[in-house]
Amino acid sequence: CGIVGYVGNSRAADFLLEGLRRLEYRGYDSAGIAAMDNYDDIHIVKSAGRIAALADQLALEMPIGSTGIGHTRWATHGPATQANAHPHAGPSGEVVVVHNGVIENYAALKTRLQQKGYIFRSDTDTEVIAYMLEDALKQLPIGSCQAPSDEELVALVQTVLAKLQGTYGVGILFRSRPDLIIAARLGSPLVIGVSEDAHYLASDASPLVGYTEKIVYLTDHQIALLKADSLQIAHRDLGEVAHSVEKLEIAS
Ligand code: GLU
Repeated sequence: CGIVGYVGNSRAADFLLEGLRRLEYRGYDSAGIAAMDNYDDIHIVKSAGRIAALADQLALEMPIGSTGIGHTRWATHGPATQANAHPHAGPSGEVVVVHNGVIENYAALKTRLQQKGYIFRSDTDTEVIAYMLEDALKQLPIGSCQAPSDEELVALVQTVLAKLQGTYGVGILFRSRPDLIIAARLGSPLVIGVSEDAHYLASDASPLVGYTEKIVYLTDHQIALLKADSLQIAHRDLGEVAHSVEKLEIAS
């Protein structure tokens, strides 16, 4: 239902929580955030029910880290439980995903992963995306001490997205790359906020108000690589594409 993301120099969780509050008007049944710091695990906090319940939980265990993603869920696959709330991690926590939309062929994809021995933790269609990304990551021909490059990650995400049928707006974190978020969309809106020392991600512009006036609308089949100080956008068929920054107009 709602997506937020932050990569910059401040504590990501602060923007994520505020952004999710501003997306509440769209309706939701559960909410969660994930944040990460250098060389640490991606820390996920999520709960069924109101954002207020998530905020209570965050008061006890506020994830540190200046890169993060968040989600308000409107359940399509699986009941509104904590296990089904987003963000969803891959089997070893190397990849964490938030997703809006519906993956039509998730059952077949899930079966294939289960045949490979993967055990799932939720009933969602979303979780297969995290597992597919992590499975693809394992197959990259790189040493275990070496983090995958920007190009490798973009190519990997594109390969996985090509196998999905349905709709998605996604925000993705990689444990080995705390400096970036990858976002992509097909039939589900995503907006990127640009500022001097941070980039923001949101499913509509309302979370960005007061943080930045410069926004970039992602279009279908585009994939964005957000870092604190850079934004690159590639199109599935065209490779890297230029993006135009627009002024955020606040509807009154
Ligand atoms: N299909 C996903 C789920 O049920 C995402 C729903 C949404 O857009 O919030 O978890």
